[in-house]
Amino acid sequence: MSTPEILYMVVPCYNEEEVLHETAKRLKEKYQSLIDRSLISKESRVVFVNDGSKDKTWSIIQELHEADPSFFSGINLAHNSGHQNAVLSGLMTVKDICDMAITMDADLQDDINTIDAMVEKYYEGNQVVYGVRSARDTDTFFKRFTAEGFYKFMKVMGADVVFNHADFRLMSRRVLQELANFKEVNLFLRGMVPLIGFQSCSVFYERAERFAGESKYPLKKMLAFAINGITSFSVKPLKLITSVGGIMSIVSVIAILWSIIAKIGGFSEHGWSSTMCSIWFIGGLQLLALGIIGEYIGKIYSEVKARPRFIVADFINEPGDSPYKEEK
Ligand code: UDP
Ligand code: MG
Repeated sequence: MSTPEILYMVVPCYNEEEVLHETAKRLKEKYQSLIDRSLISKESRVVFVNDGSKDKTWSIIQELHEADPSFFSGINLAHNSGHQNAVLSGLMTVKDICDMAITMDADLQDDINTIDAMVEKYYEGNQVVYGVRSARDTDTFFKRFTAEGFYKFMKVMGADVVFNHADFRLMSRRVLQELANFKEVNLFLRGMVPLIGFQSCSVFYERAERFAGESKYPLKKMLAFAINGITSFSVKPLKLITSVGGIMSIVSVIAILWSIIAKIGGFSEHGWSSTMCSIWFIGGLQLLALGIIGEYIGKIYSEVKARPRFIVADFINEPGDSPYKEEK
């Protein structure tokens, strides 16, 4: 193999004070072994992205950086921007200073030992390596059911996502450069990356339980994320409305014919319940249809505003190259 290349890890952190020390320790050990095996360059780094945490997360990142400046770097976002934006801010910050980047959650649910296989696959010529969960034994039944249902539903809705792959993935510098051209504000990275293309493959790992702390993805956020994923990647719901509208029109023609026949036949006075049912049913259907259209209009609204997806307050990195300082 030629000279080892530079690997940057991007780790989004939102209120992760309980796990950061352990995550940092394990990543350091992993990097050391990869460097010893000449798989990655000594210039490789771990970048923690503080996503507007309310706890000590940022000061821990600063401490880690001070103790080991040529290994731990940090990005401090100006406010909480959400997991996807935090990941993107890290990737866009490192895209010109690394050869490959891996994104991983801070809570050690993603198996660090998978990194070896990811890097090896990269050297085999893969530009994207997806980390795929082989089992969900540690998830609750509810989480597993909703999560797997989500992937299946995404497929049905026409969005190309890798089954059981979240945001644990390796991307080459080339892919990061292309990702930078996606200007959308409503981010759904696991739908965007497959769109980029290039040679890719999957590596499998068992997802562990959260090392400490609580999930930052309550059901409400998960639902919002799923709706965002669907409406960002598929217009099928809009087409469904048209189909349902068509079917309803046919049904209504039948209903009209039936009511005329009933009128002529003289047995029409018992129509109250059927009238009430159809009013409620059609009213509900119309509201649902409006809601779906509204989702898309809301999306157009936020896309045309094209607000920045994240705002970096600080970037601590040795030797101190910050792309943000140069731009201003
Ligand atoms: N996270 C973030 N910003 C947020 C919410 C979460 O950066 O607004 C980070 C969080 O610190 C973690 C990762 O995103 O590293 C995934 O979150 P979590 O583990 O809570 O989600 P779950 O695994 O339960 O789906
Ligand atoms: Mg987690």
